[in-house]
Amino acid sequence: MLDNKSTEAYRTIARELAEKFAPRAAEWDETRAYCWPNVADLTDAGLMGMTISKRYGGQGASYLDACVVIEEIARACTLSSRIVVEANMGGIAAIMAYGSEDQKAFAADLVLKGDKPAICITEPETGSAATEMRTTARRDGNRYILNGAKHWITGGGISKLHVIFARVENEAGKFEGIGAFMVACDPVAGVTPAGFTVTERRRTMGLCGMPEAELRFDNLIVEDHMTLVPPSGFKRGFADLMTAYNSQRVGAGTVALGVAAGALDHATRYMKERHQFGRPIAEFQGLQWMLAEMDTGVHASRLMLHEAARSQGPRGLPFPDMVMAARAKTFATETAIKVVSDALQIFGARGYGEQEPLERMYRDVRMFTIGGGTAQILKTLVAGARLGIKTPQTRDGYTRLAEKG
Ligand code: FAD
Repeated sequence: MLDNKSTEAYRTIARELAEKFAPRAAEWDETRAYCWPNVADLTDAGLMGMTISKRYGGQGASYLDACVVIEEIARACTLSSRIVVEANMGGIAAIMAYGSEDQKAFAADLVLKGDKPAICITEPETGSAATEMRTTARRDGNRYILNGAKHWITGGGISKLHVIFARVENEAGKFEGIGAFMVACDPVAGVTPAGFTVTERRRTMGLCGMPEAELRFDNLIVEDHMTLVPPSGFKRGFADLMTAYNSQRVGAGTVALGVAAGALDHATRYMKERHQFGRPIAEFQGLQWMLAEMDTGVHASRLMLHEAARSQGPRGLPFPDMVMAARAKTFATETAIKVVSDALQIFGARGYGEQEPLERMYRDVRMFTIGGGTAQILKTLVAGARLGIKTPQTRDGYTRLAEKG
């Protein structure tokens, strides 16, 4: 367990773990198994829930500390670094900021023991248009009853804690806003509440050890004490919840950064090792310029992500600024896809095969412009801030805005 809270101390611990994780990264990819041994190491090192405050047993580390850890681990094992993101940002961050004392203690305990919470927003019919979600939480006395389905839920089937977004309705069925509901279970042990089903695991292109699952809720009961009420209530609940989600966007961007930085290291090494035309390929200027662009992209991504990690969003909420997070995630993820692809190119056929980790890194990194808000949606957000206008995406959105005056 860490007792030194400096960022460099976290980096050292993360580097040691990355070295340990690297040899088995291909195994998780091949077998599609969740990396439980790595989770045990991350837990022992205090990196699961490192951003949770000391009051609840965490270390009160900053998002910047977490980013440093995530990057170091992602250089070696994308899967493990993604787990660190979700054990420190997103769903758990929302609970630690908005939850009751009991909710915070409950969630912290699970994460500090190694749980990676699942955040459940996306539905089969509503991806980018998340506010149009159909899952409902209908008021029933002092509890809510959830019905609906979610898909592409990272950790579905292994996560214990779920933060489920739903349309909140009063007892008469009137829409009140979007809220989040905490549901705990132990699907690995086969323990799930009535009305909660993990229906299907998707076969994915990359990050193959991470389950991406579909969940179904049939009259799933959530008592009041597990209802996460955002600071401005359900009416503006989605905005508050997405403010918390900005932390996850910074984390996801940092995973992509780490994969890119790892690929850049591999390419640098290989350029010096590989000889063609009687000389190291490092002597070819065409490749040198590729390498320089890769290096610049990685460096710029890191600066933007760290700036976002240090920033603060609206109303004193303890989360990164929305625009900085969106800008950094989009830039870092698009850059990472290009950097990893270029690194693979530098390896020639060797990069395309399984001798090197490049083909796995290429598959792993591809998801980051999709999950957590697509690049297009995040660019729309950045443009809206730049233009100083709302950017409704429905056909009649601008008409309705104009009518409101
Ligand atoms: P769609 O919304 O159908 O979009 C299709 C295409 O249209 C995209 O290119 C998109 O950018 C574009 N598009 C849509 N609307 C616009 C617009 N207004 N302007 C311009 N372009 C637009 N969700 C969760 O809730 N929890 C998770 O844990 C989770 N994990 C994920 C893990 C992975 C590996 C992946 C791939 C996804 C995950 N998701 C998760 C889902 C993810 O958040 C959605 O995939 C994402 O929001 C996009 O939704 P969609 O895939 O339905 O695409």
